[in-house]
Amino acid sequence: MAVSGLGPYDPQNIFAKILRGEIPCRTVFENTFALAFHDIAPKAPVHVLVIPKGPYVSFADFSTTASDAEIAGFTRAVGHVASLLGLDEAGYRLLSNMGAAAGQEVPHFHVHLFGGAALGPMLHR
Ligand code: AMP
Repeated sequence: MAVSGLGPYDPQNIFAKILRGEIPCRTVFENTFALAFHDIAPKAPVHVLVIPKGPYVSFADFSTTASDAEIAGFTRAVGHVASLLGLDEAGYRLLSNMGAAAGQEVPHFHVHLFGGAALGPMLHR
């Protein structure tokens, strides 16, 4: 599904290359549904990206075209990663940029998981 100027899924995007093992990453967790790895330019003491294994360009694409099993598996993986990182008690922030207005840079759906500090206001203007 093409949305918000992202176009169809590009198998040469950087996260597709990470999924295929063509580019290294610092893996936190991996299962059938998801891969979690540290962001290369962290914006918080903990900044991990969680991506589905399937070829979805964005949240809009994932939420409309992924199977129920993929959506459930991915969502549970995000929660599991937060627990693995020890963030449940202090709390954390999930964020997904969708399309141009949000400044989505990588056209493979991903959730940012931030933690390890007080994160401040939700949006800076
Ligand atoms: P977004 O703007 O939501 O698409 O975020 C893309 C994120 O991917 C940014 O936070 C980048 O720092 C991160 N990123 C880009 N390339 C890599 C990479 N090779 N390994 C890990 N994180 C990356």
